Amino acid sequence: MLEEKLRQDKKKLISFYKRSDLLPKRVVKAFRKVKREHFVLEKYKEHTYINSPLPLLEGATISSPTMSLLLCKYAKLKKNDKVLEVGTGSGYQTALIAQIVLGNTKGKKKDKIKKVYSIEISKKLHKYAEERLQETDYYDQIVLAQGDGTKGWPNGETFQKIIVTATGREIPPPLIKQLEKKGTLVMPKKENDDEWLIRGIKKASGLDIEYLDRVRFVSLKGKYGRNNRRAS
Ligand code: SAH
Repeated sequence: MLEEKLRQDKKKLISFYKRSDLLPKRVVKAFRKVKREHFVLEKYKEHTYINSPLPLLEGATISSPTMSLLLCKYAKLKKNDKVLEVGTGSGYQTALIAQIVLGNTKGKKKDKIKKVYSIEISKKLHKYAEERLQETDYYDQIVLAQGDGTKGWPNGETFQKIIVTATGREIPPPLIKQLEKKGTLVMPKKENDDEWLIRGIKKASGLDIEYLDRVRFVSLKGKYGRNNRRAS
């Protein structure tokens, strides 16, 4: 019963994406492949393919399917990109990223350099995502960490793409530092009373910023998070 409902709801969303031309083909393909129901809390499972955010643990939410997919599009994710996600949450976005940058991994030789990195500040959610991602085909290409992602990846790796999934009041400077030249960073940012999804492309002179969409995400915590006012 439930399985059939999920199949039908997912089919509807896929045909909407195809009709609307909202997303690149490789992003829709990743949506088709990744089982969102695997990352949603048991009690919300029947709503998995309703185009809406759903509550997770500790006040976090898993973004709506369309928002998760738009983040992949706006970050211009492509095969073989090395990506950092800040705010693992359920692990669903992490799985989408892995599906796009790794493609089909079954039976293929594994790359020595890991491609997908994700950091989560909540211990409970870090564990939640880890348990779910462990059951996917690409877990051995994903590196998860628990900690404050606004300080960047713990050992100073650099990335071609960075996706932040919680709203900050500034782009954390350590993330700008860890973004490679010509790399793309996407994050929701508080601007007066609004929240905007912004995209920064790294140039020699700093980040070139574009405003993409008005959005709503949970607040970014941590050193360069939304509520932590540092002395200037
Ligand atoms: N990408 C997630 C969305 C989770 S909501 C998904 O697809 O499910 C945003 C997440 O960011 C929350 O889990 C929250 O705990 C986490 N977060 C907030 N501030 C953070 C920080 N400074 N470092 C790492 N994670 C953070």
